[in-house]
Amino acid sequence: MKKLLAALLCLALLSGGSAALADTIIMGTNAGFEPFEYIGEDGQPAGFDIEIAKLIAGDMGMELKIEDIYFDGLLAALDVGTIDFIMAAMTITEERKEAALFSTPYFDATQAVIVLEGYDGIKSIDDLLDKKIAVQDGTTGYFLVTETLNVSPSNVAAFKASTDTILELKSGRVDCIVIDSPVAENFLRAHDGMMIVEGLDMAVEEYGAAVKMGNDELLAAINATLEKIMADGTYAALIERFFGGEA
Ligand code: GLN
Repeated sequence: MKKLLAALLCLALLSGGSAALADTIIMGTNAGFEPFEYIGEDGQPAGFDIEIAKLIAGDMGMELKIEDIYFDGLLAALDVGTIDFIMAAMTITEERKEAALFSTPYFDATQAVIVLEGYDGIKSIDDLLDKKIAVQDGTTGYFLVTETLNVSPSNVAAFKASTDTILELKSGRVDCIVIDSPVAENFLRAHDGMMIVEGLDMAVEEYGAAVKMGNDELLAAINATLEKIMADGTYAALIERFFGGEA
């Protein structure tokens, strides 16, 4: 039965014009967003999202291939079919829902503001308005700063890679970094001299896996695995492994 389902899914993927070979499914990610996706010691992508993607592929009876590309190119890659799905700590937003289909949410985060230790110039979100800010291109942090808050473009340093924001802050070229909270906490574990501004009233963001519009079969398979791992303890074990029990 499982084999039959897998075969049907293969057929569906092939007839959908997917880039994947019959037995391979391609996930797009941006492996510079630890602990969700990063390059492990063996040189291969690792992380919370990667583990979930492996389980999704496994349940489908398929081999997982990972394409590591810049975050702001992921939705376009999905659209042209070079990848079959995205797992990249991607927040489900109204705009993105016009470009892709999203799975059931699988993780909650907020934006966080990182400053150098001892800096007290930011006490509310509005205090960001006249600050120099480093962000990652195409992310919800980038949109918060450039669109919602409308910070002057000359005060925004946008980088393709999230980790490039750290040097910018440490060198004093910006006052702060705006980035997803779990990744901010991870930066702090790896780098001294920085802190997260407490008490900012940031909206909750939900992460989802994304598939191309119309690829309902793959979406159903992803949701089935998410539902299963949330019910059988696998998801909780991954949270423990990658976040030390906190999510
Ligand atoms: N969650 C943020 C977004 O969706 C950042 C994701 C990322 O940089 N990988 O825009």
